[in-house]
Amino acid sequence: MTRETVAGIIVEELGKGSHAALLVREKGIPTVAAGSQLFDELRESGEMLVDALREQIILEPDQASSDAFNSRLEAYKRSITFCRTLCHEPAATLGGAVVGIMANIGSHETAEAAAQNGADGVGLFRLEQLYLGRDRPPDSDELFAELLGILKPLRGKAVTIRLLDIGGDKLPRFMDRREDRNSLLGRRGVRFLLAHPELVRRQLKALLRLSAEMEIKILVPLVTLRADMQAVRTLFDELAASEGIAAPPPLGAMIETPAAALRLEDLCEVSDFFSIGSNDLTQYTLAAARENPEVNDYYQDTHPAVLGLVKMIVEAAGSKAVTLCGELAGREEAIPQLIALGLRSLSVAPIQIPFVKQQIRTLS
Ligand code: PEP
Ligand code: MG
Repeated sequence: MTRETVAGIIVEELGKGSHAALLVREKGIPTVAAGSQLFDELRESGEMLVDALREQIILEPDQASSDAFNSRLEAYKRSITFCRTLCHEPAATLGGAVVGIMANIGSHETAEAAAQNGADGVGLFRLEQLYLGRDRPPDSDELFAELLGILKPLRGKAVTIRLLDIGGDKLPRFMDRREDRNSLLGRRGVRFLLAHPELVRRQLKALLRLSAEMEIKILVPLVTLRADMQAVRTLFDELAASEGIAAPPPLGAMIETPAAALRLEDLCEVSDFFSIGSNDLTQYTLAAARENPEVNDYYQDTHPAVLGLVKMIVEAAGSKAVTLCGELAGREEAIPQLIALGLRSLSVAPIQIPFVKQQIRTLS
C-alpha cells in the first residue's frame, strides 16, 4: 500500500505500538481503529471521513461536518507546506541547541520520503521488510545491492542500520515456527541473532561493504546484557579483520529494556553509541504488549516511568551519542521535555520531520 493509492485505512482494532501501526505511520497513511460495528454499517460507494489525528470516523457526513473536516484538512496542508519550506535547514532551539532530526525508514518509498522531507540522516533503518516476505534470507551480496539501491536518495547523509530485529511479533516465513514460543519475552532481537550467527555474519558482511560507500553506523536490537553486545562485537571484529577493514563503522546498542537502561554503564565499554527504542521500552516498563489493543490504556510512552528511564540513559551515556528512535520522538507534547533532558537527536517517520523541526525552532 502507498499513500498515493490508499486514502486511509480503517481496522477493527489496533495495538498502539504494533508494527502495523508504525508501518502505516511511516508511510503516512491515515489509519483509525473503529471497532467491529462500523463494518456492518459500511455501504459500497458510501462517503466517509477518516480523521486519523482525532481518531474519528464520520459516515455519510452532512454538509456541516464535511465543511468542518475540509477546513481542518486545508489548515493541515497549509501547515505542511509551510514547514516543508524550511525542512532542509537544520533545526536549532531559540537558545542555539542544534537537534538532529533523523528518519526511520525501511524501504525505497520511505527513503525517498526521508530525503524529500529534509531528514538530517537516518536514525533507524529497519531491515525487517527485506526479510519478512521472502522464502529464504538474502545473502550478503543481495543485501548489499538492495541497501545501496534503497539508500541512493540519501547519499551524503549518515545512516544507522539496525541488524535484523525479528522473533516476538515479527517472524519471517523461512524461520521455524517453534521460534515463536514466548513471543515478546522470548528469543527476539539480539537473542535471536546470536542463536543464528550465520544470519548475523551475512548482514555484517554486507554492512561492512556498504561502509566503504557511505557513512553508516550499525545498531544491535533489544540488548539486555553486556554479554549480548560483547558477543556481537566479537563477531564484528573477527569479520572486519578477515575482510581487512581497519576502521569499521561504529557499533551501537539499542536500549529497549529497563535492565539495559538501569545498567547502561555496563554497556558503555562495548557500545560506540546508543539508540533508545521507546516502543519496546514502554511495553517492558508498563508490562503492556505493544500490539495488544486490550492494554492500549497501559501502553503509555509518555509515562513518567519511561521518561525517567530516558533521563537516566542520557545521563549515563556521558559523551556517547544517544538518539531516540521510538514513536515518542515524534510526540509533540513530549518533545520539549526530551530536549530539556538533553537529547540532541530524534528519529521519526519521514512525514513528521518538517513538523518536528519547526517545533524545535520554537523551543527556548
Ligand atoms: C522501538 O522499540 O522503539 C523501536 C524503534 O524499534 P521497533 O519499533 O522496530 O521495535
Ligand atoms: Mg524495538
